[in-house]
Amino acid sequence: MIVFIVNCGSSSLKFQLFDMHEQKALATGLADRIGIEPSAFRFEPEGKDTIKLELPIPDHASAFSLAVQYLTDPTHGVISSINEIDAVGHRVVHGGNKFVESALIDESVIDAIKSFIPLGPLHNPANLTGIQEATKLMPNTPQVACFDTAFHQSMPEYAYVYPIPYELYEEYKIRKYGFHGTSHRFITAKAIEMLGNPAHSKIVTCHLGNGSSCAAVLDGKSMDTTMGLTPLEGLAMGTRSGSIDPAIVKFLHDNANMSIDEIDSMLNKKSGALGISGFSNDFRDIESAANEGNERARLALDIFFYRVRLSIGSYAAALGGLDAIVFTAGIGENSSTGREAILKGLEFLGVSIDAQKNLIRGEAIDISMPDASCRVLVIPTNEELMIAQDTEEIVLAAKK
Ligand code: ADP
Repeated sequence: MIVFIVNCGSSSLKFQLFDMHEQKALATGLADRIGIEPSAFRFEPEGKDTIKLELPIPDHASAFSLAVQYLTDPTHGVISSINEIDAVGHRVVHGGNKFVESALIDESVIDAIKSFIPLGPLHNPANLTGIQEATKLMPNTPQVACFDTAFHQSMPEYAYVYPIPYELYEEYKIRKYGFHGTSHRFITAKAIEMLGNPAHSKIVTCHLGNGSSCAAVLDGKSMDTTMGLTPLEGLAMGTRSGSIDPAIVKFLHDNANMSIDEIDSMLNKKSGALGISGFSNDFRDIESAANEGNERARLALDIFFYRVRLSIGSYAAALGGLDAIVFTAGIGENSSTGREAILKGLEFLGVSIDAQKNLIRGEAIDISMPDASCRVLVIPTNEELMIAQDTEEIVLAAKK
């Protein structure tokens, strides 16, 4: 089965084409800065030269046609016609409390995604555009929605209800939803396999990238996660503050003459590692500046690592012990110094890592010492493959 994976952001469209028989990507691509001149387009077909273009891409419809045009291009492409695509899988950010797993897209699923726009105002409309464009170009091809929130729907009520008046949860659906679910699910499955498929397992998964979150996973099911109603809660991130005293919002409004929109934008776009370092949200830049003696860069790292460590500790308490800690995404997979700093002080949980193994990159690996009771695993995430696998499974089941 050939599966086309679409991840529509507000000004970007990421795509991958998978051959599910071979379980591999035939091509990946990205249309970026859609509607902002100059837009950028990158196309990486397997085994052929990468194409990079700067051209006007006024809207998502043009981005979609461009992707299909290159996928089917006689020279650069990897399939001869759009008819070779058997199914389309979409990343959808907010599935509210309705979707506990991926779903075959029909009118009712589209209506539900629309109904969760207030919960995901930036993402769900863009995700719907992706579905709309795919429907226009491939009206008879089945489509599947894979939700960032779905994996965390197994959280117990006491973990997801905020201690504010209960009516607000009932009326506005204000609760913890959690995100990065596809990634947490992917690395959980791989981790359980690496642990030898035990019947029971207590794992903390750490997705540490531009956006970061941890999850407490019991027997393969998410029991808690650091992101909340929105991806702003939890860990300190590239540009997001993560959890802070909510009273800071009123304080800034009253004392710094900032509007709610300005505060919201500051907390989402100018905080986290960028806000503390004052110069970058990119951990590679911050790590090298910290190594050269930049104190604000060092502080940005210390805050980030400390908060990840606190989350691991609190989730060990939530789970009543810990069999494994899993690291993934840009920082989690690549920063050996970051992993070391996060884990320092967690020896009491049975953590002990092998300094040499901690330097290995690019593969799923157990970096713990042989006798460590809590394993530390580094697992490259692959959200697109997970979406492709869900899509294939759901489309095949629907055909039966
Ligand atoms: P996104 O959330 O955008 O998918 P990624 O998972 O790609 O983000 O993570 C991006 C982050 O990973 C950036 O802060 C980047 O600096 C960091 N990163 C990537 N490679 C390294 C590395 N070798 N060392 C430290 N940080 C890294």
